[in-house]
Amino acid sequence: MSFEQEKKVAIAAATAAAIICEQVRQTMVPEAIEKKDKSPVTVADFGAQAVVCKALADAFPNDPVVGEEDAAQLKIPKMAERLQQVTDYVKQVEPDATPESVLSWIDHGNGAVASRYWTLDPIDGTKGFLRKDQYAVALAMVAEGDVKVGVLACPALTLTLKDGPATGILFVAVRGEGATMQAIHNGTPEPIKVTSSADTENFRFVESVESAHGDQTLQQLIAKAAGITTESIRMDSQAKYGVVASGNAVLYLRLPSPKYPGYQEKIWDHAAGVIVVEEAGGRVTDMFGEKLDFSKADRLETVGVVVSNGEIHTKVLSALNREG
Ligand code: AMP
Ligand code: MG
Repeated sequence: MSFEQEKKVAIAAATAAAIICEQVRQTMVPEAIEKKDKSPVTVADFGAQAVVCKALADAFPNDPVVGEEDAAQLKIPKMAERLQQVTDYVKQVEPDATPESVLSWIDHGNGAVASRYWTLDPIDGTKGFLRKDQYAVALAMVAEGDVKVGVLACPALTLTLKDGPATGILFVAVRGEGATMQAIHNGTPEPIKVTSSADTENFRFVESVESAHGDQTLQQLIAKAAGITTESIRMDSQAKYGVVASGNAVLYLRLPSPKYPGYQEKIWDHAAGVIVVEEAGGRVTDMFGEKLDFSKADRLETVGVVVSNGEIHTKVLSALNREG
């Protein structure tokens, strides 16, 4: 089955969201609003969720969208000014937006996992976004538990494309059709593949910047056991999946933080990245070798995430079995 329409809509939606995020970074110092779980959210997260949900609601009205954000905080009367700011940014890509329509578009992302659904992280790596580091707009469509389409827009990521280095990279994957990358703005898709372990220059690993989002000590140890002797590259967001998929690293480790041992990974933090890496020839499992299961709920039941070029996967899992 081909997903041409899904792919087209997802690329356009993620690109529009990326434009809003970049506009926010260029025109204001985004202030973080604290959510119930203490994590930050900004006008850009809300704006990005609004435009993606609007596009999905128009194109696929029957598909639920499981998004990270909801509009509850923006509905509080004292947040009216903030809501107006979000609306002004959204208007740049949806000229007819009003505060009311923006709220309802954001809340279109409050859907639940179903036999077919979309999952969206409007800004993955909000902490990176605030630090002016990496972040991603991550959108994926899941059907019968399998990720079918994934799009990752990484506006701050610089990689070398055929025509030379470019900042602002869009990764796209459709199940069975491979993965590509291109410049976000009017780029031409180029097929990508994970790299072989013989590629010494890229024989390195990526992990989160945030020490609380993993176990950096164990990650270093496991990478070493797999033969990687260089320091990790620390990077926010699912841009890490893109870096492995495009052959710029061979491993991404995300092992449970000793500070948060029961942490359950969220589907929108992984679905798009997983298909991009798998379609580029890599492998993604939890730390025990189990596949990530996107069919059940908005939290994964598996523990940790191991993303590799495939070649070193077994070695990494055995090292985890010994040390983990
Ligand atoms: P990263 O940029 O790779 O650090 O990933 C950012 C994501 O980490 C956010 O979207 C959060 O959903 C997620 N996150 C928050 N707390 C934790 C935690 N304790 N362990 C792993 N991931 C987390
Ligand atoms: Mg996220």
